[in-house]
Order: sequence, then structure tokens, then C-alpha cells
Amino acid sequence: MDEAVPAMRRVAIIGGGPAGLMAAETVRAAGHAVDVYEAKGSPGRKFLIAGKGGLNLTHSDPLDVFVARYREGAAEVGAWLADFDGPALRAWAQGFGIDTYVGSSGRVFPMDRKAAPLLRGWVRRLKESGVRFHVQHRWTGWDADGALQFNTPDGVARVQADAVVLAMGGGSWPELGSDAAWVAPLAARGVEIAPIKPANCGFDIAWTPYFRERQAGAPLKPVVAHWTALDGQPRSQQGECVISADGIEGSLVYAMAADLRDSLARDGEVVVQLDLLPGQSDAQVLEKLRKPRQGRSFGEHLRRQLGLGGVKSALLFEVLGRQAGDLPAESVATALKRLPLSLLRPRPIAEVISTAGGVRLEALDPQLMLRAMPGTFCAGEMLDWEAPTGGYLLTACFASGLRAGRGVIDHLSRVQP
Ligand SMILES: Cc1cc2nc3c(=O)[nH]c(=O)nc-3n(C[C@H](O)[C@H](O)[C@H](O)COP(=O)(O)OP(=O)(O)OC[C@H]3O[C@@H](n4cnc5c(N)ncnc54)[C@H](O)[C@@H]3O)c2cc1C
Repeated sequence: MDEAVPAMRRVAIIGGGPAGLMAAETVRAAGHAVDVYEAKGSPGRKFLIAGKGGLNLTHSDPLDVFVARYREGAAEVGAWLADFDGPALRAWAQGFGIDTYVGSSGRVFPMDRKAAPLLRGWVRRLKESGVRFHVQHRWTGWDADGALQFNTPDGVARVQADAVVLAMGGGSWPELGSDAAWVAPLAARGVEIAPIKPANCGFDIAWTPYFRERQAGAPLKPVVAHWTALDGQPRSQQGECVISADGIEGSLVYAMAADLRDSLARDGEVVVQLDLLPGQSDAQVLEKLRKPRQGRSFGEHLRRQLGLGGVKSALLFEVLGRQAGDLPAESVATALKRLPLSLLRPRPIAEVISTAGGVRLEALDPQLMLRAMPGTFCAGEMLDWEAPTGGYLLTACFASGLRAGRGVIDHLSRVQP
């Protein structure tokens, strides 16, 4: 055989989400035979659901700011992003005729804010390139001969491959296919796995039934949240959240979620303070509160003097009690600028946007091959990194899929068939 032509080898990609499909595209482009095994009846179901929220593909942050979003995983994820960052992702989408735009918050969306056209075009292109899709194939582990095992409608299927990419996602929204059932077979093979935890999650708060019934679903905006990071540093961020029946959720909550979750686990309690009047200083708020009420109710006084109404006013009463109007003006002013909310627990994993934990980054070499299992690579949300919403999740999934795919190509070039 001509030395310059690499031998075609068989590569199994398990999981048809963004990470798996990116790995499939990369490996197929190098001429290897690629089979994608997907548990559900079609690939990319979570990607499609992300499209329901507008499909925030990536973020326009400068690279150093972008990379810092990955917290403890910044060094490793930053290395993947060096090969495939936000601009690269936008250019890649453009390859399907999908133009993107930067929203007011710096987040990047496709013009039509939909995932389906992109996914359809991508799967079509992969199939045309020769990638084979095997849907309703749920991977369950390895048999005694080291073959991959799948539960299929026709019974158990066994597959031997020259290299494998595991890209089975995190643990949230299990009805879309990713249920983190891969933890047990990988742990049994000696792969180090950090516990799966909720990320980008809401938190429970013990609302009174009165408040819950009237305010669940109400958007709280704008507010500034003050909280303490795990390292003890004070943090503040302006944004929006939503009162839910059980507590609080929304993008501002997700931005704090990792700190709050870990503080709760460590200390058993955590309090977030909300500034309900970010446009007014402490002194202004106090001065306005002190103005004579002239026989008006306290709620009306708040509305006239401070422009405080609706859910913000209801939240103040929820925390201070119905007698809030009898409290000294200083106490009310402090509450308006630093309203303490005591969080009980994160929402259950099944309903959160993404999960933290998973295959530890130290368990992988820089090409995302498992040190304990040469020839087996991992990519996407099943790895132990986390980031807030804002397009950072999908970008890292794509970038890690590319990196794992390139790792497979390199590995196959070095091992004998
Ligand atoms: C409601 C919602 C909205 C979101 N919006 C955004 C957003 O706007 N921007 C953003 O950046 N991120 C968003 N995310 C997060 C983002 O969708 C995920 O981080 C991303 O899809 C993860 O990609 P992945 O390829 O690692 O895994 P997944 O997309 O979860 O894909 C993994 C695939 O593996 C399959 N699979 C799992 N187990 C097995 C098995 N045993 N055998 C075979 N196949 C298996 C699954 O069926 C699935 O198709 C959102 C998530 C949710 C839930």
C-alpha cells in the first residue's frame, strides 16, 4: 500500500449531540469509517431544545474573558478553544448558510434563533460524507471481549472499533437521551469520575403559599445580586431572574449557581442579597422612604416614591412581613438594597440546564483520550467542566468534539491495525 495513504479504520462515536457529531465530522474528513450510535430515535435532541430558547450558540467575549468562564477548567477548555473558539463556531455555522448575530448581551444566536435548520443540514452533510447513523442504540458498556454493547430494538448489538469517542452528554433532561448512565461502566474500568452535580440551576426558597400563588413566573428585573464566592470573595452582578413556584431561576441565578451550589454543600446554607433598586443609591432610597406618607398605604408609598411595584414590592413584603411599613426607614432601605434570600437547595438534576462533574480532566490526555483506556476518547458535557449559560456550553462541546476527533486521527496513525 502507498505509505502516504492512511489505512481506513473503524471509529465508533457514541452519542449524537454536538460533541459527538463534531468528532464524527472530524474523523470522517480524515477518511476513516465512522459510525454514530445514538440512544434516541434521532440525534441532537438536546441541541434542538436549546433552539427553543433561541439557540445561544456562543458568546462574543474576547478570548481571555471567554476562557475564564470555565472556572477551574479554564486551562484545559482554553486549550480546546485555541483550535475552535466563538468566531470559528460562527464561521462553521456559516458553512451551512446560517448567519449569526450578536445580541445586546454579547450572546451569539443564529439569525432565525432556531436549531433545527442547522442540525438538519449538519446530519445531512454527515450522511452524504459517509457517516453511518445507528439510532435507538443505547450503549451499556463493554462485553468480556472488549466489544461495545448496545441495547437496540432488535436485542443486544456488539461492535468492535479501532477507536471510540464517548460523547453521551451530562445528566439533565434525561428524556432527551443523556442520563449519565455511562458513569457506572466507566468507573468500573478505572476512569475517575467527579460526582454529577446540577449546574445552571434554579434554587428552592421557602415561599409562603400566598407569594407563590401570586408571583410564580414573574420576572424580576433589573436586580443586582450580591453573593460570596467559594473562595470568600464578594461578587456582584446585574441581571434578571424569575420567581418560580419553588424558588428562583433565570440567567442571573445560573451565573451564580456554581458558587451557591458549592457553598450550600459546604455550609448547609447560603444567602443571596438582591438590590431591588439598582438605579438608586442607598442614600436616595432612604431619603425617599422618609418622605411623609400622607395617609397612603406603605405599598403605595413605595410605588410613588421609589417606583417599586409588582413582584419587587411583593418580594419585599414576603421577606419583611406584612408589617414592613411599621419598620424603621433605615431597615426598609437596607432590605431594598440588600434583600436577603435564603436558598434551600439546587433544583433536581433532571430539570437543570446542564450538569457539572463527569469524567475528570486529569483522566484524559491533552487529546482527550482516556489514560486508563487507550483508543477511547471523551468529549462534551460528560467531561468535568462547567460554565454559565451564554453559549459557553455549546462552544466547549463543539471544541472538545473537534479535539477528540483529531486525537482519534493521531492515535490511529500511530497504532497498527
Ligand atoms: C433547555 C436547555 C437549553 C439549552 N440552551 C443552551 C444554549 O442556548 N446554549 C448553550 O451553549 N447550551 C445550551 N444548553 C446546553 C447544551 O445543549 C448542552 O451542553 C449540549 O447539548 C451538550 O452537548 P453534548 O454533545 O455533550 O451532549 P448532548 O447534547 O446531551 O448529546 C449527547 C447524546 O448522547 C446520547 N446518549 C446518551 N447516553 C447514551 C448511551 N448510553 N448510548 C447512546 N447514546 C447516548 C443522547 O441521547 C444525546 O443525543 C441547553 C440545555 C438545555 C437542557
